[in-house]
Amino acid sequence: MKIGFNEATALKCKGQSLTADLEACEKYGYDYIEIRFDCVKDYLKEHTLDELALWFKNHKLKPWAYNTLIFFNLRDAAGVKEIDDEIDFIIKVSNAIGMKMLITVPSFDVGPLSIEQVQKEAVTRLSYIADKVAPHGIRVSLEFCGCPNCSINQFGTAYDVVKAVNKDNVGITLDTFHFHAMDSHWEDLEKAEGKKIFAYHLNDSENLPIGSMLDDKRLWPGEGCLDHDRTLRILKKIGFDGVCTIEEFRPEYYELSHDDNVRIAKEKTVALISKYYDL
Ligand code: ZN
Repeated sequence: MKIGFNEATALKCKGQSLTADLEACEKYGYDYIEIRFDCVKDYLKEHTLDELALWFKNHKLKPWAYNTLIFFNLRDAAGVKEIDDEIDFIIKVSNAIGMKMLITVPSFDVGPLSIEQVQKEAVTRLSYIADKVAPHGIRVSLEFCGCPNCSINQFGTAYDVVKAVNKDNVGITLDTFHFHAMDSHWEDLEKAEGKKIFAYHLNDSENLPIGSMLDDKRLWPGEGCLDHDRTLRILKKIGFDGVCTIEEFRPEYYELSHDDNVRIAKEKTVALISKYYDL
């Protein structure tokens, strides 16, 4: 397993920027970074994509995924245009720096639609997005969100969409917080193919009632109520061996120095994952 850092983890730490994240991730020996849409847009106000490409060329750290193409489904005409423009931007960034994946999250508060209606439309939209990025060798990973008002909020629902799209460059993001937060079913993860899990977001959670968890209740992996042992045993069994990316949004962790945040995130990730996988 390789280890990644998602920029949400240190997002509000003093001194955070894409440049600061890159340097700290290299210092602490991460393999990959998941680049946030807002961080790269900030970066480009004062830098160029060529500079970013050069940075990666001269360091061991590599870009893993663009995080995220938000609200890809159930959009009106203006929203579809926004998504198209954003994908064009993602392709430009990805081609410049050799990044090969975009993660996309579903829309929220879409009104009273059945799961089948949402899935049918999501299959059409994901297929379209996948075809648009395929000529650039880019994969698309669907990340369901464990919130009651998210249009796709359980692993099984998202995985059915991915299966129905049936394209090599479309897979799923398993975010352990989201998996727990809407009580996704273990059997659905057991039935999944390891190669279809494109991204694995690691974190933990305070023990709150299902359907009430918000991202700021995330904890360092191993410090909350999530059953990581079960997740990791299943992941091994279904043949997953990709990148494990830590992703936190916790205000207390933003109070840490940027350097401590990135260092601790790596230590917590390695402490947990190394019990199951060679790093
Ligand atoms: Zn995530």
